[in-house]
Amino acid sequence: MASEFGLCPMCGQRIVATVDHYLPQSRFPTLNLTSANLIPVCSDCNRRKLASVPAIAEDQTLHPYFDDLGNERRLMADIAG
Ligand SMILES: [Zn+2]
Repeated sequence: MASEFGLCPMCGQRIVATVDHYLPQSRFPTLNLTSANLIPVCSDCNRRKLASVPAIAEDQTLHPYFDDLGNERRLMADIAG
């Protein structure tokens, strides 16, 4: 899956440079080449996540391609100047 405009879907700021295993390959080796488990991300986001897996549901991140965020605004900002 290509990321929109080549931007990392995790941070939305940096250019995609690596592929992250949404569910870490060290803990879920059978999903190693499953396309739904491969997310193009920037190096910083990939490095930050490493092989971490949330221990509780509240710590689970949204899957950038499969979780439906709907059309509700979640973040707004005014730019002054
Ligand atoms: Zn990123």
